[in-house]
Amino acid sequence: MINRTINYLRLSVTDRCNLRCMYCMPEEGVQFVHHEDVLTYEEILRVVRVSTEAGIRKVRLTGGEPLVRKDFIPFLEKVSGIADLEEITLTTNGVLLEDFAEDIQKCGICRLNISLDTLRPERSRRITGRDYHARTLAGIRASERLGFDPIKINVVAMRGVNDDEILDFARLTLENPYHVRFIEFMPIGTGNGWNQERFISIEEIRQRIEALGPLERMRNSELDGPATRYKIQGAAGEIGLIGALSHHFCDRCNRLRLTADGHLRGCHSSATETDIKAALRTGEPDARLLQLIQLAIQNKPADHGVFQTEPRKCVRSMSSIGG
Ligand code: SAM
Repeated sequence: MINRTINYLRLSVTDRCNLRCMYCMPEEGVQFVHHEDVLTYEEILRVVRVSTEAGIRKVRLTGGEPLVRKDFIPFLEKVSGIADLEEITLTTNGVLLEDFAEDIQKCGICRLNISLDTLRPERSRRITGRDYHARTLAGIRASERLGFDPIKINVVAMRGVNDDEILDFARLTLENPYHVRFIEFMPIGTGNGWNQERFISIEEIRQRIEALGPLERMRNSELDGPATRYKIQGAAGEIGLIGALSHHFCDRCNRLRLTADGHLRGCHSSATETDIKAALRTGEPDARLLQLIQLAIQNKPADHGVFQTEPRKCVRSMSSIGG
C-alpha cells in the first residue's frame, strides 16, 4: 500500500520553448498545442487556488520555457500572492534569465533550477539546436549576483553526448555555490533519442565523480526532492544525483502536473490524464474543479513503469507535460 502525500504541482505554463533540445523537443516532430488550447493565466491561477484546497503547497513553474510566455512576470506575481502556497520555484533554460532575474526575485522567488547540459558552446549548439549558450551562462551569473539560493543546475547525462563533461560539471561545485544535479536520461515522448547505449546511471556518474575525491553524503531535507545529495570535500557547492530510471522515486513522488493545455497528470509517463480545461471553460464551479484535482490524485499510478526495457506509454514530450 503506497501512502503518498501529493502536495507539489508542476505547471507547464507553455509548451513553447526557445531551445530545441534533442532529448526533449527535437526540431522535427514536436506538435505544438493550438494557442486557443493553452490555458490562460487566469485559468491556471484558478486551478492553483483550488489545488491548495486539495493539499497542494508547492508549485513549480516550468514548460516549455516559462520565460518565453508573454506577461509571465505579472502572472508570477499573482501566483506568489496565493495564500497557502509555501514554496514557488521556477525551472528555466536560463536564456532569458539575465533580463528577468530581478523581476523574478521581486516576486519573492529565491530558488531556481537552470538547465545546462554542456559547458561547451559548440556542443550546446548541437544539443539545444540554438546558439544561446552565452546567454544561459549570463543568466546563471546574474542570478548568483542577485543571491538566488540555491541555484540548481540540471544536467541530463547522456553517454556519447556529454558524459565526458561529468567531471567538469562536478568541478564547478568546488569553487561555486551551485547545486549541480545529474539527471538520468528518460524515454519521454516520441523520438527523443533515448536508447540503452545513451543511458548512463547515477551509480556510474557517482563512481566517475569520486575520481575528484571522496564524496560526502548530505542529509536530504523536505524541500530537496528526489536528488541524493553529495559534496566533494571542501567544495562550495553540491552534487545531486537523480536516478529517475534506475532508482525511481515513485513511492515517494508527491507531484501532480498540469499540462499547458489543461490536463492534470499524476505521472509524466502514464497514459492517464484528467481534463480540467473543459470544466474551466464550461463554467463549472470550484467544487467541480476540486473533484477533478482529487480524481487526478487518486489516479496517480503507483509507479512510472518506464523501466529500461519497457516501451514508453506517454507520447507527449516533456515540454508539454512540464518537466
Ligand atoms: N525550459 C525549461 C528548462 O529547460 O529547464 C523547463 C522545461 S524542461 C522540459 C525541464 C527539465 O526537464 C530540464 O531540466 C530538462 O533537461 C528535463 N528533461 C526534458 N526531457 C528529459 C528527458 N527525456 N530525460 C530527463 N530529463 C529531461
